[in-house]
Amino acid sequence: MTYSVFSLLKNAVTGHKNWAPAWRDPAPKPAYDVIIVGGGGHGLATAYYLAKVHGITNVAVLEKSWLGSGNIGRNTTIIRSNYLFPGNNPFYEWSMKLWEGLEQDFNFNAMVSQRGVLNLYHSDAQRDAYARRGNAMHMHGVDAELLDEQGVRDMYPFFNFDDARFPIRGGLLQRRGGTVRHDAVAWGYARGADSRGVDVIQNCEVTGIRIEKGVVKGVETNRGYIACNKLGLAAAGNSSEVAKMAGLKLPIESHVLQAFVSEAIKPFIDGVVTYGAGHFYVSQSDKGGLVFGGDIDGYNSYARRGNLPTVEHVIEAGVSMIPAISRVRVLRSWGGIMDMSMDGSPIIDKTDVKGLYLNAGWCYGGFKATPASGWCFAHTIAKDEAHKLSAAYRLDRFKRGFAIDEKGMGAQPNLH
Ligand SMILES: Cc1cc2nc3c(=O)[nH]c(=O)nc-3n(C[C@H](O)[C@H](O)[C@H](O)COP(=O)(O)OP(=O)(O)OC[C@H]3O[C@@H](n4cnc5c(N)ncnc54)[C@H](O)[C@@H]3O)c2cc1C
Repeated sequence: MTYSVFSLLKNAVTGHKNWAPAWRDPAPKPAYDVIIVGGGGHGLATAYYLAKVHGITNVAVLEKSWLGSGNIGRNTTIIRSNYLFPGNNPFYEWSMKLWEGLEQDFNFNAMVSQRGVLNLYHSDAQRDAYARRGNAMHMHGVDAELLDEQGVRDMYPFFNFDDARFPIRGGLLQRRGGTVRHDAVAWGYARGADSRGVDVIQNCEVTGIRIEKGVVKGVETNRGYIACNKLGLAAAGNSSEVAKMAGLKLPIESHVLQAFVSEAIKPFIDGVVTYGAGHFYVSQSDKGGLVFGGDIDGYNSYARRGNLPTVEHVIEAGVSMIPAISRVRVLRSWGGIMDMSMDGSPIIDKTDVKGLYLNAGWCYGGFKATPASGWCFAHTIAKDEAHKLSAAYRLDRFKRGFAIDEKGMGAQPNLH
């Protein structure tokens, strides 16, 4: 399926009844060069770049459910590259650059909207920390602006600036940050991979990994055994369970994170804003709903729903930041399973099993990483070596003492 002005016109005059499916629905073949487990953003992006950049097209993406059913279709759609550490910054900035050209690249409207991401600060110490982060961003060629209180007032005059406990003193702004329509990213990558020959196979759950003499041979699935030369795991919240099939015990815990959407209101917040005095962040969707979220629920879970105390906690922080939203009704909420690593940073690496590669530990920030993750994971699989941008995301960094603890929380995944 290709999209152009002509196909739009043709389908408009024929009542939109003749659009071809955006990707095929192939049956699994007996064997592939590469199998990717997980048809989320990272798995699909990996398959896309394997085909597009490395010319490896005998590839299958195996997804146990439907495309977009995982975190790629559950996140709050924020993209940014406002990181502090050298291990993170170039990687996330490359992701931002890929986002900037993505729609042209895969010829699909993903509604990339660089509307700005503003992190509020409320104290001198927090301002200093943001100034440091902004400087680190500048050193890596990333845009950052430190706003004072008036700068924030000019953008959002209705925030609660004079709250006695948490007065807003300013914010760190990345204008190139913003939002992207999350499920369209899965669809765009799926379509781009499929058109290059990749088999995107839905309703195909991997139930076992066959390894002989330390070498990957293939996967058991609910649709039979499928052989492969190389196997990439990109199962996000289920990473530990899938890796366990290969005998790996990952430094990852699974936690639930909730998101919320309000009823539609008139245009109100035109960027993404995070509260520095509590865990709350918000943007407004093109349909008018406020899209917001906060912290993970704080206990290990594989359930994709959260608990009420966290709902209360998030909404309290939101009302504290913007009292005007107290009368807006919440329309719906949902949860996703986060693969929380021990330092809050991801893993893109080879494993000790020959032909087995791992992509995991994205915590609650993996959506923005989708393009760069796919780019670097595809490189690792194709070349059997780490990409220089993901060289810090090695699995053995915890053993070697090279954790990338961006938040400074130590090995406490519930706090990252
Ligand atoms: C509420 C919420 C808000 C978030 N907000 C943001 C945000 O604003 N910005 C940001 O950067 N990140 C955000 N994230 C995090 C981000 O969504 C994830 O880090 C990222 O989507 C994970 O990668 P993925 O897209 O590949 O995951 P997924 O879409 O979850 O893909 C993994 C896939 O693997 C499949 N799978 C699992 N086990 C198997 C198996 N055995 N066989 C076959 N398939 C299997 C699953 O069904 C799933 O589809 C948020 C997450 C949530 C839940």
